[in-house]
Amino acid sequence: MSHTHAPQALTQALPSYLDPNHLGPWGIYLQQVDRVTPYLGKLARWVDTLKRPKRTLIVDVPIHLDNGTVAHFEGYRVQHNTSRGPGKGGVRFHQDVTLSEVMALAAWMSIKNAAVNVPYGGAKGGIRVDPRQLSLGELERVTRRYTSEIGIIIGPTKDIPAPDVNTNEQVMAWMMDTYSMNEGATATGVVTGKPVDLGGSLGRREATGRGVFTVGCEAARRIGMDIKGARVAVQGFGNVGGVAAKLFAEAGARVVAAQDHGGTIYRAAGLDVPALLDHVARHGTVKGFADAETLPDADFWATPCDILIPAALEGQITEKNAGRIQARMVIEGANGPTTPQADDILHDRGVLVLPDVIANAGGVTVSYFEWVQDFSSFFWTEDEINARLVKIMKDAFAAVWQVSEDNKVSLRTATFIIACQRILHARDLRGLYP
Ligand code: NAD
Repeated sequence: MSHTHAPQALTQALPSYLDPNHLGPWGIYLQQVDRVTPYLGKLARWVDTLKRPKRTLIVDVPIHLDNGTVAHFEGYRVQHNTSRGPGKGGVRFHQDVTLSEVMALAAWMSIKNAAVNVPYGGAKGGIRVDPRQLSLGELERVTRRYTSEIGIIIGPTKDIPAPDVNTNEQVMAWMMDTYSMNEGATATGVVTGKPVDLGGSLGRREATGRGVFTVGCEAARRIGMDIKGARVAVQGFGNVGGVAAKLFAEAGARVVAAQDHGGTIYRAAGLDVPALLDHVARHGTVKGFADAETLPDADFWATPCDILIPAALEGQITEKNAGRIQARMVIEGANGPTTPQADDILHDRGVLVLPDVIANAGGVTVSYFEWVQDFSSFFWTEDEINARLVKIMKDAFAAVWQVSEDNKVSLRTATFIIACQRILHARDLRGLYP
């Protein structure tokens, strides 16, 4: 009997959730990979590696609620690619989290980590839960049980979680403690974004917003836009959007509009950003901020502005609102905020889009610094951290800009070209096991 088979006979059809026609973030990611494949040369033979997550874990997370009943939540951890190093990516607590979304977010982490050349693959996690409905004790129990369940695949040299939407330093502290208790030794390097007193890094909390600001300034310089006096609109006033707004305001820009899950506010003369941050810290939303008018949420997208920063969730800029956007530049603080159709509309209208995979890479860059500091137990000053962050972001952005000019492609495709080449080159060098 012959042992030779036609290659097609051995290649299984993609499972339905990996199907490129599948709508949603994973489908969008697959389209982005297809756009870049013609630029990959011989490495294109490995491109299917990028179209399947390496490892996908779905876990049941049961906890005792305060009222004595037991509730079950679904949790995920996806390791998309580990060719360049351990998995790395945040954990999201949100009622709408799905496996497909976590897969896309993990894949974008692979791209992002390669784009800024930190030695990580890509991963992401999440729990399908609305944390606002939980007491603090319930939140801690959900976090600890989830960490214990994914403990079989995470670790300081395997996969290192970090904060994302609705998770913060306290959640990271519980994750670190749970993993450490199970291991029998304190393992600070298992997560990043921890409190500074527990092996966290100075500058981590602000890092993503600082990266958004840095690439925004770099791009503005190249298109002749003055940051001083520029009007900025920000969607999402959390870790990313709040910090980016603060830095732009400090640089003399006018933050004219802010939107979050609670509502939309506007002030043509510029919002008082420190006062707004204080309001959000006390009330959890921009809604109700004095000294601003309230806008219907849909009008946020038509706000007269020069810079638009989506920093909330994915799929926010669509073919429905892209035509109304006034900004000259969109800086993607969030992951996946722009659909491919909207991307094309913005491109045709001459709006420059700084893609998530480079624009919000500041967070993982300082997470890398945190991880390095944890391994060496030697901690750097905030000035050192910020200087290294700004240098990495500027260099990475300059490389993306160059590839974009050389190939006459968008900054998104340029970032994917650089990143996919790095990932697939590593894949090629390592070869296939066994
Ligand atoms: P966060 O929880 O601190 O803030 C999220 C913000 O989005 C809040 O202001 C919330 O009110 C707002 N929001 C939620 N739903 C909304 C809706 N339907 N409409 C308008 N606003 C809404 O989260 P974050 O850490 O700032 O993350 C925001 C985005 O940035 C996410 O896409 C995340 O993946 C991405 N990101 C975060 C980091 C990081 O270091 N935290 C790094 C890279 C990318």
